[in-house]
Amino acid sequence: MSTVIAVANQKGGVAKTTTVHSVGSALAQRGRRVLLVDLDPQACLTYSLGFGPDDLEGSLHDVIVHGTPADKCVVSRGKLDLLPATIDLAGAEIHLLSKTGREFALSRALDPLLVSYDVVLIDCPPSLGILTINGLTAANEVLIPLQCDKLSQRGVGQLLETIDDVRNYTNRNLEVAGVVATLFDRRTLLAQDILGSVHERFGLEVLLPPIPKSVRVAEAPGSSRSVLEHAPKSAAAEAYRVLSAAIDARVR
Ligand code: ADP
Ligand code: MG
Repeated sequence: MSTVIAVANQKGGVAKTTTVHSVGSALAQRGRRVLLVDLDPQACLTYSLGFGPDDLEGSLHDVIVHGTPADKCVVSRGKLDLLPATIDLAGAEIHLLSKTGREFALSRALDPLLVSYDVVLIDCPPSLGILTINGLTAANEVLIPLQCDKLSQRGVGQLLETIDDVRNYTNRNLEVAGVVATLFDRRTLLAQDILGSVHERFGLEVLLPPIPKSVRVAEAPGSSRSVLEHAPKSAAAEAYRVLSAAIDARVR
């Protein structure tokens, strides 16, 4: 059975997509069979792996709205498999709102794929709407990227409330794997402070190491690769490898 990890935070720009791609690459390099799922209608993960709408036979929209089997839409880039998104996924969100069992659409669609993968990483959109609820409902664990140089911890309480709702209504066994500090600048005291207070206030585990801010990470999507292939010796790639070893240890 595979371990399904939703990477979620309703704030945009906190490195959800980057973390899904980089951790996925690192786990694949460790020999894990990895599926990435792009659950964001902005389709940044899909673009980061080098796919545009014209390159795809189908996308998560077809899976959710037309019942297309998910395996028919999976594409591969190197060692990574991807269930891609297009902007059409925004329509799937509207479609779901009138459906019974709408929280379970992704979970059901992924179910037949799970035997083929060790790890499934879900890139959630920057909202707490029905798509994110689908991601959390399909997951065993949530990983929360947190950018430490803004007032980022302000949204954490709201995210934890949503996770509690999901536990109460749709996915009793959902666990929080922890917080990953992203875009980290260790020169600022603020970053260290925020990490400490997240642990204290919310009782969340902060997974180590923090991922340093690096232009190498920002460049990587331009080459259709994660920072692990784009700049394997960079500090950010090394940090994602160490983080992924800790995540690997949680894989069932
Ligand atoms: P989200 O999915 O949460 O919206 P992204 O992963 O798209 O966030 O990241 C937002 C922006 O920050 C992107 O342009 C990405 O390339 C950049 N970025 C992410 N992580 C880093 C990092 N460690 N160093 C520098 N830039 C980063
Ligand atoms: Mg994103």
